[in-house]
Amino acid sequence: MGGRDVDVVVIGAGQAGLSVGYFLHRAGFTPETGFVLLDGDDGPGGAWRHRWRTLRLDGVHGIHDLPGLALGPADPTRRAADVVAEYFGAYEREFGLPVHRPIRVDAVHDRPDGRLDVVATRVDAVHDQRDGRFGARVGAGSEAATVTWTARALVNATGTWTRPFWPHYPGQELFRGRQLHTADYRDPADFAGRHVVVVGGGTSAVQLLGEISEVARTTWVTRRPPVFRQGEFTREEHGRAAVALVDQAVRAGRPPGSVVGVTGLVDTPRVRELRERGVLRRLPMFDRITPDGVAWADGSVVRADVILWCTGFRAALDHLAPLRLRAPGGGIVMDGTRVVADPRIQLVGYGPSASTIGANRAGRAAVREVRRLLRPVAVG
Ligand code: FAD
Repeated sequence: MGGRDVDVVVIGAGQAGLSVGYFLHRAGFTPETGFVLLDGDDGPGGAWRHRWRTLRLDGVHGIHDLPGLALGPADPTRRAADVVAEYFGAYEREFGLPVHRPIRVDAVHDRPDGRLDVVATRVDAVHDQRDGRFGARVGAGSEAATVTWTARALVNATGTWTRPFWPHYPGQELFRGRQLHTADYRDPADFAGRHVVVVGGGTSAVQLLGEISEVARTTWVTRRPPVFRQGEFTREEHGRAAVALVDQAVRAGRPPGSVVGVTGLVDTPRVRELRERGVLRRLPMFDRITPDGVAWADGSVVRADVILWCTGFRAALDHLAPLRLRAPGGGIVMDGTRVVADPRIQLVGYGPSASTIGANRAGRAAVREVRRLLRPVAVG
């Protein structure tokens, strides 16, 4: 089955994509004929749909309202994944957003007429794989599964969740226990009675250490000594400083760094409790992995049943590779949401806008750019 010609294709319907959809609609683009959103998941919620079962609403940093419809009061003890999926679903219905799913975009190609071909696969089912990334089942060899949309402009809002970053350490393939990434983590009960090595110095590592340590033995390793900042995280002060640093990086064409690299970890009452329990005693990064655990160059070893890699994510941009947007620094040179090398392409939820609040702002900015490109006279 084929796609169709539209003005704008939005790839991804998480916070960033929905925000773009809202502003496109408000700017007068017609759903389906003027714009579509293509999303690889089989239901609303973006990455939040896949967050672990034990992540409750009161355990997240904060979910910023989408434009035009507030989340409203919600039971803080409910699963964040459920609350956000319901909220995003209601949002799609409220504004009649034309979300097509599950449609996974595989590649975007330049056309000789200056438009873009967005080549996608209509997947049958999306499922979380226990052993790695989340996968999509596709009707094997079925031509009907390939769909192409042709667009004059593209807004990419694919987030990072589908691209977990696994560093490589010698011996990794010999490990007899289980290795998993934050993206695969579901429930601490899966590790009851085991010894779990948690790798990584970010918020996810600390959160997961906290809950796993209640049912299992844990060892925490990080590359650099983690720095816990005293006092509350304020969006105004620390958030703005972090965003400015990431913004500098992407303007210069460097890959956006991790947010914790610039904001640091926050010393909350929960963190203090973990410290008192001895959970946050951290070891430097190990040098190799053995069949039974991890080892350091000085000869010390820790036996482990599980290695949990809380080592972050990268921007999910592989489908844009045919457009050759990357600068020699490895990143994509950006001016706001616009790709400098190709003004038909906007990246939202990328770099400085990779948070729920940033994604909203980026939605508005991206639509302004799209209007400038497609309707130069109409933009005031
Ligand atoms: P996503 O929510 O990831 O949505 C991207 C969508 O694009 C998904 O639906 C995906 O299926 C789809 N997609 C991806 N690739 C393709 C493709 N090739 N074709 C079609 N569709 C595709 N931010 C906060 O503000 N507050 C928090 O508390 C917070 N907690 C976080 C906790 C963790 C563990 C992590 C990893 C991140 C957290 N963040 C938090 C950052 C968070 O990622 C963003 O806030 C927000 O979820 C990003 O929205 P997004 O729309 O950019 O991406």
